[in-house]
Amino acid sequence: MRLRALALALVPRSASVSLAARRVAARPRPVDPPRVKPVTIQIGKTMPKDIEDTIVKPDGAAARQDLLKWWDAGHRAMPWRRETPADDKKAWAYGVWVSEVMLQQTQVSRVDPYWRRWMERWPSVESLARADESDVKALWSGLGYYRRCAFLLEGAKQLASANEWPTSKDQWLKVKGVGPYTAAAISSIVYGERTPVVDGNVVRVFSRLAMCGEKPTAKVWWSLAGSLTDGCDRPGAVNQALMELGATACSKQKPSCGGCPLRGHCAAFKGQVVDKYPVVVKKAPPVKVAVCLVVLRHNDRVALVAPQSDRSKSPFRLEGLWELPGTRIEGEPDENAIVQGLDDALRALGPTTKGLRAKKPLSHSITSTRYAVHVQRCDVDDPALYSNVEWVAADDLGTKGCSSVVKKAVDAAAKIDAKRKLPKGQQTLSFKPAKKATTRVSPPPEPVTVTPPSPPQLATPSAFGAYAFAE
Ligand code: SF4
Repeated sequence: MRLRALALALVPRSASVSLAARRVAARPRPVDPPRVKPVTIQIGKTMPKDIEDTIVKPDGAAARQDLLKWWDAGHRAMPWRRETPADDKKAWAYGVWVSEVMLQQTQVSRVDPYWRRWMERWPSVESLARADESDVKALWSGLGYYRRCAFLLEGAKQLASANEWPTSKDQWLKVKGVGPYTAAAISSIVYGERTPVVDGNVVRVFSRLAMCGEKPTAKVWWSLAGSLTDGCDRPGAVNQALMELGATACSKQKPSCGGCPLRGHCAAFKGQVVDKYPVVVKKAPPVKVAVCLVVLRHNDRVALVAPQSDRSKSPFRLEGLWELPGTRIEGEPDENAIVQGLDDALRALGPTTKGLRAKKPLSHSITSTRYAVHVQRCDVDDPALYSNVEWVAADDLGTKGCSSVVKKAVDAAAKIDAKRKLPKGQQTLSFKPAKKATTRVSPPPEPVTVTPPSPPQLATPSAFGAYAFAE
């Protein structure tokens, strides 16, 4: 394979990667380094036996040179990137840290406005350390994976109270929530430490460069990436260039090899087998779970359940987020189980009432779990009867620190047409016990912190009783 690859002619270079090729995918998940000491792959030395037969090792120094030339010729501007090293390394490191956490599994274009808002609100680690968790979550709202912002806050608190500021990868690894990828990115970009970074983009580039086939381990990726940063005086630029290349030219679907600075080093390109790499590993099928959500409405407000500190009490196993009342049903439930689940969700908070159910369940995925979300809308006249909830204006959901599924379900509930002709026994809930539920239903949520509804906004008594809200 190696001989075949080397025998093929090189294609002439073009000046740069086309703009079209620079469309950006979400930053993939970082790849943790192996637990054992990484193998250092040196040019001209024998590879470890297990990978020797499967990869075509690039010349790290030569590849680095071409990569840096490409990087220096121009790359995308991002608010957290600095073209020249900043004097205030602490502020720089803080900005890179926030950006790297936000970019995990999220597109650059999506992160950009969030990063700007974040830095405007909390321009230093000290200001972030003083922030309220609910404010942090509210600003993060819509980015998903909320544990990331909780870790940022915890890390900031730790750093603000520490005597020393971390400058090396090892020191950053001691900060709460900072993993090997983020630690390596900060220490190489800001402090010039010769350490590689490996995320999904970098893996894709090296899988093609070296034609890594049979389930390469993390050890292989870190070793290959290390061959570019070893002995380098600009490791931060090398790492950023590699990530940029993976996010633009060496994209998942249609790599733009003609303009790629590494095509002369790329075994897959030379062998014309780019489309065979990375080798696709079949994923396990997603776990299917049903969730029954009740959108309890009063005028323009909806009832939210306070954040749970215990994930097992959340229908979506979320922590620290406002949610709609709901129950979780493992597997694919039958109609009786769904009716029962919706009934339970409402009964846990107050009196049951008739409602309308959305025709089809919403589809929502969180990591490897695929949720079928059954939404029931119930319009109530007296919100005071439901005391274990907080009534929030639908327009304020975006700043409340809710999971994105809340907005989805509220929107779906608003679209349910109350006047439509309903199929017999299908769209209305009777709230009578189902005949025989054959699927196991998880118990209804336990009562949560009691938050009384907002005080009356109307000066005169309302037809809705003691608690009514201004429109
Ligand atoms: S030549 Fe093509 S496959 Fe190889 S690294 Fe460049 S873009 Fe990726």
